[in-house]
Amino acid sequence: MNGFIFLLLVFGLPAAVGFKMALSRGKNPFLWGMLCVFPFFLIVLYFEKPNYEIKGHFRLCKQCNETFPWKRIACKYCGAPVVDANSD
Ligand SMILES: [Zn+2]
Repeated sequence: MNGFIFLLLVFGLPAAVGFKMALSRGKNPFLWGMLCVFPFFLIVLYFEKPNYEIKGHFRLCKQCNETFPWKRIACKYCGAPVVDANSD
């Protein structure tokens, strides 16, 4: 039983984190969840940006076409302010 918990922590935790990060980046969560069993892929995934807008996670800048975190009020790259008509 202890061994099972150990395995779950060692492999399950990075897989779960990878799953969530892949979802927020518009990538295949199952594929990335499996890859993230090797935590190296968590780092790869962390630096992977989506190339399109993912509501609630990443915005696409209308001016320079870069994606940046949803919570920001201005583009990280060119400084263009976020124009959000329906901010609910
Ligand atoms: Zn921009």
